[in-house]
Amino acid sequence: MSSTQDTPNRRFADLADVEPEFWKKKRPEQFSRTEWELLCDGCGKCCLNKLEIKNKIYFTSARCRFLNPETCLCRIYEHRFEKVDDCRNITLQAVLSEPEILPATCAYRLIVGGRDLPSWHPLVTGCADSVHTAGQSVQSRPTISESEVKDYEDYIVEWPDL
Ligand code: SF4
Ligand code: SF4
Repeated sequence: MSSTQDTPNRRFADLADVEPEFWKKKRPEQFSRTEWELLCDGCGKCCLNKLEIKNKIYFTSARCRFLNPETCLCRIYEHRFEKVDDCRNITLQAVLSEPEILPATCAYRLIVGGRDLPSWHPLVTGCADSVHTAGQSVQSRPTISESEVKDYEDYIVEWPDL
């Protein structure tokens, strides 16, 4: 699992091979690879740069230069770890040890934290676009490429957690 899936919308089109509402029936460590991948809602928020100030993580509206802000997909998904040093692999271990690297709305944080998926999550709606139409993705927010940023502190935002 990556921070952003470079998989097209069709990944939610056929859920026949996945147990309905599997996230309510299994513990995270029991999820199959496919189930784990499907948990990603495609919001793109984890591809925003973060700042650590006095041991607290702040999201900024400065996006990774490889994030497509329209689709919220990574442009270099297959090569992301080679090209971007701090691109994180969102494994269960990563979510357990460093949940703050993900926004509070992230499905991984919610599920690992014992909560349910929100009503707009594609697994609930069956529609990949529902994360966008609900205004929960980077698509509906003003962001700037990190390539254009001089001082990240000027771009600290709260909306990724809302
Ligand atoms: S924040 Fe979480 S749900 Fe959103 S794209 Fe990143 S990993 Fe997926
Ligand atoms: S390379 Fe950038 S856009 Fe791609 S998954 Fe990593 S942080 Fe997101």
